[in-house]
Amino acid sequence: MSPKERLLEIQDKINAAAKRSGRKGSDVTLVAVSKTFPIEDVVSFARLGQVDFGENKIQEFVQKTKDYVDFPGAPPIRWHVIGHLQRNKAKELVGKTHLFHALDSVRLAETLHAQLKESQHTLRCLIQVNVSGEDSKFGLQPSELDSFVDHISAFPTIKIGGLMTLAAPSENLETIRPQFALLRSLSESVQDRLDFTNAPELSMGMSSDFELAIEEGATIVRVGSSLFGERS
Ligand SMILES: *Cc1c(COP(=O)(O)O)cnc(C)c1O
Repeated sequence: MSPKERLLEIQDKINAAAKRSGRKGSDVTLVAVSKTFPIEDVVSFARLGQVDFGENKIQEFVQKTKDYVDFPGAPPIRWHVIGHLQRNKAKELVGKTHLFHALDSVRLAETLHAQLKESQHTLRCLIQVNVSGEDSKFGLQPSELDSFVDHISAFPTIKIGGLMTLAAPSENLETIRPQFALLRSLSESVQDRLDFTNAPELSMGMSSDFELAIEEGATIVRVGSSLFGERS
């Protein structure tokens, strides 16, 4: 399939899943995860009208954002950082990131705030929550969320937009559904508790499970291999 056919197929699936959850396809943002793929592929999708792109490694993000700007005639796009960020790389996000999906510690928030304040920027962030209980995953435990959000309110440069998660990989999609449902219910309780009406985003779902995530309320899905092809 051509990039165009792949993009159309994903958009069709997004539309259908959104409809099943009583919403419209336009209520769901598709982030095209371009990690490991060359800048030419990003440009191809951007020329097809894809706006949001995501990278999970900071070094690659820095390189790609530079290469993209230098690419002749590339249309304007928005970059998302979707993976764990080490504190000493915090400055690399400032002024270049539409949305950071992986805020996962108070210390990181503190460092980001210092960088942002110095350069007079703000940053929209999602709080990463570990809903699968796997030790290998980054993210807060659900029980830590309330006090984390209380701490974060001390950092006015950080604009919390909602929550993000990665489900545990599984052949059986029905074991994943409760994990997405949990993120959604956490999001509702955080919004109630803190009057976070401007933090409605739920970033959940990847190539293997984005339709399920949308059925469970995802507002942002992060799709890599189904768009760009298998990563080697
Ligand atoms: C790689 C990645 C994705 C996309 O994964 P695919 O299975 O290729 O769709 C989504 N989210 C994060 C955080 C990733 O690192």
